[in-house]
Amino acid sequence: MNLETDGLVIREQKIGENDRLIFVLTSKYGLIRAFVRRANAVKSNMLATTQLLSYSDFVFYKGKNSYSVNSAQPKASFFKLNEDIEAMSTAFYLAELFGELAPENHEAEDLLKLLLNSLYLMAEKKRSPSQVKATAELRALSNSGYMPNLVACEHCGAYESDIMFFNPASGLLYCSDCGGPADGMQLSLSAVTAMRFICYSEEKKVFNFSLSDAAMVELNQAAEQFALQQTGRNYKTLDFLKSIPKG
Ligand SMILES: [Zn+2]
Repeated sequence: MNLETDGLVIREQKIGENDRLIFVLTSKYGLIRAFVRRANAVKSNMLATTQLLSYSDFVFYKGKNSYSVNSAQPKASFFKLNEDIEAMSTAFYLAELFGELAPENHEAEDLLKLLLNSLYLMAEKKRSPSQVKATAELRALSNSGYMPNLVACEHCGAYESDIMFFNPASGLLYCSDCGGPADGMQLSLSAVTAMRFICYSEEKKVFNFSLSDAAMVELNQAAEQFALQQTGRNYKTLDFLKSIPKG
């Protein structure tokens, strides 16, 4: 049986001398693991279209126990990411994170679009890697059943105060009267406003905000801690991203 869908290669693994296993975030079927046989790939010209971060129209053959790639026609690649190591490393980290969040045997169109937009905005230098990273983390988690409750202070229902406290383990928010450092990370109101925007605005608008450098740093720390605590694991690609000296 053949499955046809568009998808982005988010991970690859060498299998033996000649073959590869690729992990594809597809719009119709969520995460698919599929073998790419080298002989087949060379013959049908699909070495490039099955590379990491290639976006292609795939035809998968579904065998008894596994999938293999029958064909892959290119739709987009993001080679301009190579020009900036922070953008490239952010892309690898988001690919790993989205692989953790992606459903199997279930459509994942929103997640795929979010990741494609993230790569595009960084490749074309339309948004900074840190803005893309925080936005993609928060929105992807929200779309995957980990929506934080940013509507109001958990205790008194106050909508806002000059500083607020966000707990990345519970996803709850506290105002300055009810919360303190023991309740979570201290955030300025502009960082909280950006988090609300990312979680609650329309899909196509999520990247359309701007922040001061200081508030962007707060947003980044909050989104990253939220991603790490909610998924309960570490990411090698994130460790690498954080090891890059800031330019
Ligand atoms: Zn309160």
